Amino acid sequence: MLGSLKGMFLTLTSAFRRPVTDQYPNKPRQLEDRFMGFPALTWDHNVGEPFCTSCMVCIRQCPTQCMSATMIDNPLQKEGKSHRRKIVDTFEINLNRCILCGICVEVCNFDAIVMSHEHEMSVYQRNDDRVDLIELLEMGKRYQEDTGWIPPSQRKKAEKEETAVEKASA
Ligand code: SF4
Ligand code: SF4
Repeated sequence: MLGSLKGMFLTLTSAFRRPVTDQYPNKPRQLEDRFMGFPALTWDHNVGEPFCTSCMVCIRQCPTQCMSATMIDNPLQKEGKSHRRKIVDTFEINLNRCILCGICVEVCNFDAIVMSHEHEMSVYQRNDDRVDLIELLEMGKRYQEDTGWIPPSQRKKAEKEETAVEKASA
């Protein structure tokens, strides 16, 4: 009896609650900054080139081997505008094989790759989700703009300096 009353009470309280259903895809939900969509490449606005040097570390570590890349000598380095001796020339990710594990982001030492907010990328053909360097950089730029992205190495450096100043003034 008590159990039935509890059940009825719960049903009644739920009946007057505001619905929590999202009207997707007509009204896409606001994504949190930490949301992990497909990987994308970042753009160094200070120099005007990708962060990626095509060092191949992420490509070797990717568990599904869905990435490939090539590098060239960096023309901007020869002009004295960039510290990167090598720069990415081509980059491709087969997003159909990507499992969104984030390992590529973890292992990159150059702040060159992020888990972007892109996720609505379904296609009808098995191999139609291969994205090239241009598209990966566009995805990355959108992510950088949307989240106010700061390269992790710069952020860590700033945090260390802040801690050092706090310790010195304590
Ligand atoms: S994204 Fe990072 S780890 Fe991957 S090739 Fe570029 S620089 Fe190397
Ligand atoms: S998120 Fe994982 S599976 Fe996808 S490209 Fe990066 S390492 Fe590969």
